[in-house]
Amino acid sequence: MKKRVLILMSDTGGGHRAAAEAIRDALYMEQGEQKVAVDMVDVFREYSPVPLKYAPELYPRWINRSKKSWEAGYKISNTPQNAQIVSTTIYHTIQSGLKRMFREHPSDVIVCVHSLVTRPAMKALMSRSHRPPFVVVVTDLVSTHHLWYEKRVERCLVPTLPAYDRGLESGLVPDQMRITGLPVHPNFVRGLTKQADARAQLGWDQNLPAILLVGGGDGMGPVYRTARAINERRLNCQLIIIAGRNNTLRKQLETSSWNQPTTVYGFRTDMPAILAATDVVVTKAGPATITEACIAGVPMILYDAIPGQETGNVEFIVSNRIGVFAPTPQQIGDTLARWMQEGPNSLRLRSERARALSHPNAVFDIADEVWRYAQQKPIDTDRLSLWKGVVRARRAINNQLDL
Ligand code: UDP
Repeated sequence: MKKRVLILMSDTGGGHRAAAEAIRDALYMEQGEQKVAVDMVDVFREYSPVPLKYAPELYPRWINRSKKSWEAGYKISNTPQNAQIVSTTIYHTIQSGLKRMFREHPSDVIVCVHSLVTRPAMKALMSRSHRPPFVVVVTDLVSTHHLWYEKRVERCLVPTLPAYDRGLESGLVPDQMRITGLPVHPNFVRGLTKQADARAQLGWDQNLPAILLVGGGDGMGPVYRTARAINERRLNCQLIIIAGRNNTLRKQLETSSWNQPTTVYGFRTDMPAILAATDVVVTKAGPATITEACIAGVPMILYDAIPGQETGNVEFIVSNRIGVFAPTPQQIGDTLARWMQEGPNSLRLRSERARALSHPNAVFDIADEVWRYAQQKPIDTDRLSLWKGVVRARRAINNQLDL
């Protein structure tokens, strides 16, 4: 019989959907659509009341407007006790939606790729007599929040050793966890053509070094200021800027004049080709972009990190000598000018180190794990349902009579 996989995500940033689609498509590739059906649900958008319903809109706005308050919220909530308070509050806000979601999307295994959803979802499932096996795929790289770790899950798949250690700290046991790397879409690796082919496909100049500027799926952070600072340097390069879903930013970029060949894009669905064609990526420290750039072997200049979940990513990239942290437009310009001067050899070394650190097959390892759990029987939650209560009472009476 066809196995049903339910993936819980939300469009807060681009990474959760990207991870969910990657796992879904790897399952389809490996098992075929005759054997598996995957449902993806944006838990906040589809099953939560206001204001959580608007989390996909509110998240980038909050971070763009007040990183300090986001940082404070992240830090305060990131203790075992406070994480529990946050998840209990979310649970009470969305519990009826969660229960409806599980009724409307019956499944053989649940995969959760969102930290805020993991614990409330498990709590909602525990109100049933049986629940499907629950697999968490942690989609932050290094400085992972306590909220990711729920002791009752069957499996917790993490991208890095620091994320694994954090799981142990949060009370998970080694047998529950595995370091797989972050899931990146199977087409990503397949789409990594030769640089010349990718450039021909995209219509970029074949000879000029290509600098890609991207602020995640939502065009977050000081993308415009950074672009202008690079522009001021008049480097011998071509500049490619991705505004993502940020239409205001896109318009602002499109109506500016540039000193070097410059291409402005909105949200792209061909990131493998774009990274294959790129020599240096200037980006915020988003986990998915970092992971994809590592697989593609593209050195990075990180200009920004969402405080909290992305802070550790910077240290990870810098300590592995794949890239640098350049938090001001001035520093980005200096770094680019230096890298261009150093020539291709130092870029090649960074590129090789990036590839060595990557897990291009992570998504298939994760899909295999999910498939394995999809074969398991539902788990008894030990909740005393009416029926179970009747069965137990009858057993007890029979035992008494036997005596
Ligand atoms: N992305 C994309 N098209 C774009 C811009 C970004 O597909 O135009 C993808 C990018 O390849 C990555 C994800 O969106 O997979 C961004 O995730 P990341 O974790 O870097 O940042 P987030 O957007 O989640 O803050």
